[in-house]
Amino acid sequence: MRPKEDVTSRGHEKPWRAGVPQRDQFQQLQALDDAIAWRRARITAPCPDCEPGPDGRRCDDHACDLDLIAAYKQMANATIKNLST
Ligand SMILES: [Zn+2]
Repeated sequence: MRPKEDVTSRGHEKPWRAGVPQRDQFQQLQALDDAIAWRRARITAPCPDCEPGPDGRRCDDHACDLDLIAAYKQMANATIKNLST
């Protein structure tokens, strides 16, 4: 885990677009990584509202987490594609 070097940019949401400098894209990727890890931790925590078992229905909160993880992954994939071209 690397130390966060740029805390000042927090709270300034950058528009998601192609053509941003590579450094920003790496930061974005790091942020998405953290967000995914955080959401995953939320999902794995025991929850009285979720149905048990891997196929159990998730409560609204955790269904939202799952949706967000999928969205973060898509964004991360898009960023990785951008970096490798
Ligand atoms: Zn739940």
